[in-house]
Amino acid sequence: MDSDTQLKPCPFCGELPEIEVAQGGAEDVACFNVHCLTQPRSLGIAGEISGREVWNTRAFPSEEDKKLLQDIANWFEQAWAADGFSKPLQELLERMK
Ligand SMILES: [Zn+2]
Repeated sequence: MDSDTQLKPCPFCGELPEIEVAQGGAEDVACFNVHCLTQPRSLGIAGEISGREVWNTRAFPSEEDKKLLQDIANWFEQAWAADGFSKPLQELLERMK
């Protein structure tokens, strides 16, 4: 796979990943989208397999996996919204006194 090969988008958020060259010359392909729940990364092996090839051949989640990840993301969003997370935590801390 040559350096002109198009990278597939992140299977979890749809953003295009970025390529960095790690120590030793191996390509490190990763999703840096701060809103991506998993931010996957694929590391190549210098002189053997490129990070792009590892990234593009990685397993992609099933529709069921995507739904589960979305449910988890929604839960986190709700949990961090005002009072959604802090109120139950405060109640728990009160009970522990
Ligand atoms: Zn992503």
